[in-house]
Amino acid sequence: MLIKKNLGQNFLSNDALLTKIVDCGKVTSQDIVIEIGPGTGNLTQKILNKSPKKLIVIEKDLNLSELLKKKFGEKVEVINDDILKRYDKFDFKVPLKVFGNLPYNISTKILTSFIKINNLNKKFKKFIFIFQKEVADRILAEENSKNYGRLSILTSWKMNKLKIIDINPNFFYPKPKVWSSLITLTPKLEFKNLKRSKHLEHVTNIFFNQRRKMIKKPMRQLFNDFEEIAKELELDLNLRPQNLSINTYLEICRFYEKLTQ
Ligand code: SAH
Repeated sequence: MLIKKNLGQNFLSNDALLTKIVDCGKVTSQDIVIEIGPGTGNLTQKILNKSPKKLIVIEKDLNLSELLKKKFGEKVEVINDDILKRYDKFDFKVPLKVFGNLPYNISTKILTSFIKINNLNKKFKKFIFIFQKEVADRILAEENSKNYGRLSILTSWKMNKLKIIDINPNFFYPKPKVWSSLITLTPKLEFKNLKRSKHLEHVTNIFFNQRRKMIKKPMRQLFNDFEEIAKELELDLNLRPQNLSINTYLEICRFYEKLTQ
């Protein structure tokens, strides 16, 4: 089979690992399941063994899509398309479970696209994703650590996060250069509402583009009356971006949204 590097194709076949991944989803016969980038269908088969109510897979590679249609027939709905054009087009009455050994070149794009969906928790129940470890570390990072940044804040805004395991490159074919991590993300039932997620991206961008600087600088950049706002938030302007909690960023974002009405 021809491997398409530009589609981030790194396939898994280890049975114990595939079982571990599928078990994270606790799939039952009530579940509607989506798989992103099913590739040759090894994880797909494992999901199918749990007899979900419906299984839909999105695969961009036409050859692989044809192969999957032959392999699974009626049992799986194979959609030959780009997930980035599809992620917000699922319309079911029950929240979905989403699996994906994600194509690494677009893995953060896929994640942030899902996060920005309105009513995320009504549409999605759980994401079971494999990222390159470096990205997973950034997603999972807590304040005051070196990996803490935009991706940690954006994800934590709407999701509960759980690291399951790190995966050695040897488990993949072809073998990638870096380690990977399996994590699960569960949409929070309650989270601070923002007018637009774009605003949080903007605010965190301004802070973390200057991650070594004291936050006085980004605060001044965002607000004329930055000293007053800092007082109201009990914010020490000598701190660095990585020292502020997710809640503080959401509060700052609220002030920013008041200005952009
Ligand atoms: N799940 C499989 C394959 C993972 S590799 C396994 O674990 O073995 C990533 C897969 O995503 C590949 O099959 C690749 O063709 C597919 N892919 C890449 N970009 C995609 C996109 N934009 N939308 C949907 N699938 C994509």
